[in-house]
Amino acid sequence: MVADKKVLLTTVPRMPEIYWDNFRRDTQRKLFTYSFPRINSFGLRFIKYNIPNIDILEYPSWDEYKSRLKEGYDIVGYSFYLNETDIVKNMVNTAKNMSKGTELWAGNYGALTPSISHLFDEILIGYAELEVAKKLGLNLNTIKHPPLVWYVQTSFGLKINPLGILFTTRGCPLKCDFCQTPSFCKKTKKIPLDSIKEVIDKYNEMGIREVIIYDENFSLFPNHTKKVIELLYSYDIHWYCMTTIKHLSDNWKEWYEMGLLGAFIGIESFSQDILGSMNKVKIDASETIEFIKEIRNYLYLLGFFIIGFEKDTKKSVKEEVNKLKNLQIDHTQIRILTPLPETVLWEEIESKYGIFDKDWSKFDTMHLVWNHPNFTPEELRKLLIESLLKCHPRRHLLRTHLKLAKRHMREKGFFHSGIYLFKNMLLANTFDYSSL
Ligand code: SF4
Repeated sequence: MVADKKVLLTTVPRMPEIYWDNFRRDTQRKLFTYSFPRINSFGLRFIKYNIPNIDILEYPSWDEYKSRLKEGYDIVGYSFYLNETDIVKNMVNTAKNMSKGTELWAGNYGALTPSISHLFDEILIGYAELEVAKKLGLNLNTIKHPPLVWYVQTSFGLKINPLGILFTTRGCPLKCDFCQTPSFCKKTKKIPLDSIKEVIDKYNEMGIREVIIYDENFSLFPNHTKKVIELLYSYDIHWYCMTTIKHLSDNWKEWYEMGLLGAFIGIESFSQDILGSMNKVKIDASETIEFIKEIRNYLYLLGFFIIGFEKDTKKSVKEEVNKLKNLQIDHTQIRILTPLPETVLWEEIESKYGIFDKDWSKFDTMHLVWNHPNFTPEELRKLLIESLLKCHPRRHLLRTHLKLAKRHMREKGFFHSGIYLFKNMLLANTFDYSSL
């Protein structure tokens, strides 16, 4: 029993489909693209799994949200991102009008914005299971990992494979100037191995053969990392991970043998000046290029890249994007440099140039929100869209598909890899995603 409080935690209401789908936003295509829709909220799922008697709402319609408010909750909490702030303000006003006396909480990265803290009774910063439990008078000693299953599908709606989502750690010690993670999660932590084993076991029972390790920076704790990889290998589950180029270059050969299919890596820029000013692990840009060329035929690669640094000009961005395109990465997530609250970058840009935009929906890393010395917002937005299109030619899709198919053929042989891919597709299209 959740003490004696009735608690509802919710995300923002449902938005147009493309909003939930970074893949389609990145390729800027409706056809010849994979789609990877956000189908549930990882944060709320974790809280619900650990404190079962709270209620959660994931991407409800406005009517659903309002009818839940009518049920009368002691506490309503909002999990949101910065660019969803104005929507949450509306939700808060609705709650204040409909259910007076309800306590309102803010959580997730949106809660880091100091200027909106007055709207809420409680601000929960960071991964919040333990804090929510404590505020409700419950004793939670350890975190359990919920099963989370997403899928990748074609633009025609045919699902290709189900993907288990796995978190093995939380936080990141690197403190990149532009990143909110160090403020959001101040201390890096492991997800307990027992719980990881339990969820991998469930994925295996469900027939899921591939997982994405969605840590902010996979491989923070070498011993823990090793045990997780051994577990996945023991179940013959293949995996992708989000990690740094440094971790990947140090480990990729060994990880590849243990089932690594691909990696999501922060390339950010090819300018040594910019990389040097970013406080990120010092990456040598030319080494990065050579490294990507070395691994791109073996691994699926998703690269994060930023344009609109203070020294950027139209010419420099075009040159950088050409280099990026020539690397033939499977998927490239290019974004505009955006100052976010509680980052070093926010302070620097605010004092040096000024942040002019007051519309929080523009803080989605797809718009210029500060006074750039060389770009207007329209110019940089146009350049962003051109760059995304340039880095995602239609033929990429086929090449990626062939690369992954070849990998399975190498490991399982022609016949069995065909069965493997067919079974994955069948499961993806028959899996009851709402049952979790
Ligand atoms: S490595 Fe990634 S998660 Fe870590 S601080 Fe830098 S951008 Fe953030």
